[in-house]
Amino acid sequence: MTEGFSCAFYPKHFASYLLLFISLSLSLQMTGKRRLATYVAVTLSSLKLSTSLQLRRPLFVRVATRSSAPSSSRRTIHQGSSPSTQEESERYDPLQEALRKSEERALDNFIEQEAPDWLQGRKGMPFECTACGRCCKTQGDVYMSPEEIQKASQVLGLKPNDFVHEYASHALGQSNDFDETTTWIRLREEGQSCVFLDGDGKCGIYEARPHQCRTYPFWPNLLKSAKSWDEECRRKDEDNESTLPPWTPVDGGCEGMKTIETLPMDGGSETDVPMREVYRQLFEYVTSDKRFPKDTERPLSPTNKQE
Ligand code: SF4
Ligand code: SF4
Repeated sequence: MTEGFSCAFYPKHFASYLLLFISLSLSLQMTGKRRLATYVAVTLSSLKLSTSLQLRRPLFVRVATRSSAPSSSRRTIHQGSSPSTQEESERYDPLQEALRKSEERALDNFIEQEAPDWLQGRKGMPFECTACGRCCKTQGDVYMSPEEIQKASQVLGLKPNDFVHEYASHALGQSNDFDETTTWIRLREEGQSCVFLDGDGKCGIYEARPHQCRTYPFWPNLLKSAKSWDEECRRKDEDNESTLPPWTPVDGGCEGMKTIETLPMDGGSETDVPMREVYRQLFEYVTSDKRFPKDTERPLSPTNKQE
């Protein structure tokens, strides 16, 4: 935040002051009604001139600040061009910029070292969510980190501890309460759906949904081959569509994913998700997934008696 004061000298003000000065001088040399009439006429003219002149740039500006604005080189790094307003230059945050750059570098490294070979050369992946809600209806574990718990609690207007006791089936920590030892929780299910799936098929904590929900279907197990991707796609059959469970190995599940075996390598649809975004989500999933327990090591402590 920049604090300080400024003093600007505008041409339109100068013209007004000049006319006022002339009017005063003339009126001093006259008497009676002529002096008054001249004074009023010239004053009105000067005011009109002042408001009609559209000169917006000051001839000179003197600025005194207690903290200086970012240098132009920093601004160039941030936006590729100089900010056009003071507001834009104040939004520049070198720390955020450094963080963004380091994240981009980490993503570059991830793509270089860990991206599956068969994705090389693709421009995008055929996926566009239809909000069918099937991915929330299958059985599976949805984990949340402490940061995600705090965000979701805020959305629901709950204390994190109340959130955990209301919505978690299991948690890992030194107690069943949400405290500094909590490393993750697992959401409980209702029926065979996630506890947050509402009657309209919508997520009750959508803007704060966990990483693993936000990054679906760009998960490692689905992106490892064209076959694994295609198996996850919903394969509709008009005859049995209404009776199909949300997901089966034979019929797949996600109706927003399109099979790719028959599509050209470079994608082909405007709705394809660009590869960089695919990798970004894959990277996010992999990073968050490392913090959660694997199937073979689940030291779960139940937090909720409803399951
Ligand atoms: S948290 Fe939301 S998006 Fe994730 S499984 Fe539950 S209902 Fe679906
Ligand atoms: S199953 Fe696929 S299309 Fe349906 S809501 Fe989930 S991600 Fe979207």
